[in-house]
Amino acid sequence: MSLHGQYDDQNIFAQIIRGEAPCYTLYEDEHVLAFLDVFPQSYGHTLVIPKRSAARNILEIDADSLSKMMVVVQKLTAVLVAELAPVGVQVAQFNGAPAGQTVFHIHMHIVPRFEGEALAVHAGGKAEPQALAALQARLLQRMAG
Ligand code: 5GP
Repeated sequence: MSLHGQYDDQNIFAQIIRGEAPCYTLYEDEHVLAFLDVFPQSYGHTLVIPKRSAARNILEIDADSLSKMMVVVQKLTAVLVAELAPVGVQVAQFNGAPAGQTVFHIHMHIVPRFEGEALAVHAGGKAEPQALAALQARLLQRMAG
C-alpha cells in the first residue's frame, strides 16, 4: 500500500469508526472522530480522522470532509495546549508509505512537544492502557469545563 491504491475497509481506523475496535475517544460528531494514538510519539499524541470519507490520503479526500476534520484538529490542538502546556505542537499528515504512512485511512496527527523531550519512534512502543485512560479522562474533563 502506498500513495496510489484501493481503500481497504479492514484498516484499523475503519474498524474503529465501525466500533469493531476500541479507541480512547476524545471527540466525535457525525463527520469526525478524534482519539489518542496508542503508540504515542509524545504525551497527548492525538489522531483526527474523517468518518464518512473512504480516503486513504490527502489526494483522495473531498474538500468538505477535509475542512470538517481540520476544524476539529484546531479545536483539539487548543485543548491539548491548554491542558498539557507543551512548548510546541506538531500537526502532521503523511501520504504513502515512503512518507511515513502506516494506516491507509487519512488522519491528522497532533503531537505536543515538551521541553527537552525527543519524539518517540513513529508507531513504536504501545502506551499503558491505564495511562491512556487517565489522559483521556483529563482531556475530556478539560473539554467539559
Ligand atoms: P501514520 O503512520 O499512518 O501516519 O500513522 C498511523 C498512526 O496510527 C501511528 O501514529 C500509530 O501509532 C497509530 N496507530 C496504529 N494502530 C493503532 C490503533 O490500533 N489504535 C490507535 N489509537 N492508534 C493506532
